[in-house]
Amino acid sequence: MCRHVAHLGPATTLEQLLVDPAHGLLRQSWAPRRQAHGVVNADGFGVGFWGPERAAPARYRRAVPMWADASFASLAGVVRSTCVVAAVRSASAGTPPDESACAPFLLGAADGPGVLLSHNGRVRVEALAPLVDSAALAALGSTVDSAYVAALVQARLGSGLRDALADVVREVGHHDPSARLNLLAADGTTVVATTWGDTLSTRVDERGASIASEPDDDGPGWHDVPDHSLVTVTADGTLTVEDL
Ligand code: GLN
Repeated sequence: MCRHVAHLGPATTLEQLLVDPAHGLLRQSWAPRRQAHGVVNADGFGVGFWGPERAAPARYRRAVPMWADASFASLAGVVRSTCVVAAVRSASAGTPPDESACAPFLLGAADGPGVLLSHNGRVRVEALAPLVDSAALAALGSTVDSAYVAALVQARLGSGLRDALADVVREVGHHDPSARLNLLAADGTTVVATTWGDTLSTRVDERGASIASEPDDDGPGWHDVPDHSLVTVTADGTLTVEDL
């Protein structure tokens, strides 16, 4: 089970978001505190973020552990964004080891703001294959189980990010009752997350909204999200939690 985090709010550097917190995503790559499946997240990482220069987000993904990438450490202090989705990976058995399997996946129309999607968990590809459009899967460039989930989300984006994630989790959960489906997605102005088999915590304060697999410090303000929930955060910082 990987770990992921999203930020929505005042611009933050990737360093402030991922590196500086005592138990931020960098630390979680080698010492997660709440991870039930797997002990380290050393099979790559990815960071996606929106900037003012264009509609679509940028992505930086690598197949190495986050702690081993000195170039990421160098740029993290100067890259600043109001909306970030980042993940560190513990590859599920039998999945590809390359960076194309690392979240966040990029969805949405090519000329729009796009959607970044991360998946903590595992699904049986055989159960999903009949549901997935092969062209959508090919466009994602990976055969990792998370890409099958992403292809299903892509097909449902017309109903909006919130409904797309809710529908996909329910549908996949129906076809694969053993699936673990913590999804985290953003479109630059909204963040949506699901809990379906793993942990998730949220914090909203003057720094913005953090939606994370686990708290990045022991400070106040973190709230644990119950399993089988749908979390939505809008640009004004309003956070809602619904049952899934
Ligand atoms: N199944 C996904 C992968 O292999 C996610 C793994 C995880 O959450 N640990 O990358």
